[in-house]
Amino acid sequence: MKSFTYARASSPAAAAAEVAHTPGAKFLAGGTNLLDLMKLEIETPAHLVDVQDLQLDRIERTADGGLRIGALVTNTALASDARVRRDYGVLTRAIVAGASGQLRNKATTAGNLLQRTRCPYFYDTNMPCNKRKPGSGCSAIGGYSRQLGIIGTSDACIATHPGDMAVAMRALDAVVETVTPQGTTRSVPIADFHRLWGDTPHIETNLQPGELITAVTLPRPLGGTHIYHKVRDRASYAFALVSVAAVIQKDGTGQFAVGAIAPKPWRSSAADQALPQGAKAAADRLLAGARPTEDNRFKVALVQRTLAAVLADAQNGRNAA
Ligand SMILES: Cc1cc2nc3c(=O)[nH]c(=O)nc-3n(C[C@H](O)[C@H](O)[C@H](O)COP(=O)(O)OP(=O)(O)OC[C@H]3O[C@@H](n4cnc5c(N)ncnc54)[C@H](O)[C@@H]3O)c2cc1C
Ligand code: SF4
Repeated sequence: MKSFTYARASSPAAAAAEVAHTPGAKFLAGGTNLLDLMKLEIETPAHLVDVQDLQLDRIERTADGGLRIGALVTNTALASDARVRRDYGVLTRAIVAGASGQLRNKATTAGNLLQRTRCPYFYDTNMPCNKRKPGSGCSAIGGYSRQLGIIGTSDACIATHPGDMAVAMRALDAVVETVTPQGTTRSVPIADFHRLWGDTPHIETNLQPGELITAVTLPRPLGGTHIYHKVRDRASYAFALVSVAAVIQKDGTGQFAVGAIAPKPWRSSAADQALPQGAKAAADRLLAGARPTEDNRFKVALVQRTLAAVLADAQNGRNAA
């Protein structure tokens, strides 16, 4: 691991200013992703600004009846909150489908949104990777791409966002709140938070350098049946091959997002509108323009089948995980 300096921030604005104005600085939250990447020297920050003291660990009601989740709320605390379990069950189910109990005790809301891809070549420093080293090439294109993206990818990178929590937040229309290094606040709909890779796959979100996530807000409860289905190679402790987060109403209408197929949780209003016509119609709309590889073409059918299972569970009133 490369050497680095360390400081604890005293306020969100001070943390943002310190990261923006110190070359090579990064925020440290739970450390479950960043420290792994530092040990492999994939991330080499010169300075870490620890945000643990910023009191961003509360879950509060918003004035319009939604919920405001502090950036430092752990995955365990969020998944087990009584309001989340009752009104946003899809979020609880997505979180507990991810990682392990120990990791979820440390992992934070903001850190989870910002976890880096699990493309195997990103972790192999002997191989070219445009995301790890801009301009070096992409080993996954023409290489082993079974776990990688089928839509929203580019000729520079076909990796996916690997997380579970963000898929549920996309289905719920969450909004990410931030403070900029200038001390102003911003609200970014989660739909616009993660970027498509384009020619710059190393830039993964629309955050400015030094911008700190302070919270994620959820709108008023939507009712309906909340379902998260995660398909993976083994029953636990594995990243998704495909996941579906859905909120389905009694009349068959609803909203859903799909994970592990794109640089961001993938959702479309056309696909949502097609839900009453069934899984095939909705999946066809969602995946219009998909560009799978030979290795991961199976994901097209898997999205449709996973969505079909979700809709069957909704019809039977089952809140499946
Ligand atoms: C073995 C293993 C299995 C896993 N399995 C899954 C899984 O199945 N599903 C899943 O979803 N996840 C999984 N994870 C990933 C895990 O969920 C993430 O590592 C975790 O959520 C990251 O949160 P953190 O607080 O530890 O972030 P950190 O590692 O501290 O930070 C991650 C990134 O976010 C930045 N950051 C942190 N806080 C802020 C902030 N407030 N504002 C701006 N930037 C910030 C940091 O600078 C860093 O770049 C797994 C991880 C491991 C190690
Ligand atoms: S898919 Fe992206 S992360 Fe994977 S090797 Fe190619 S550029 Fe790197």
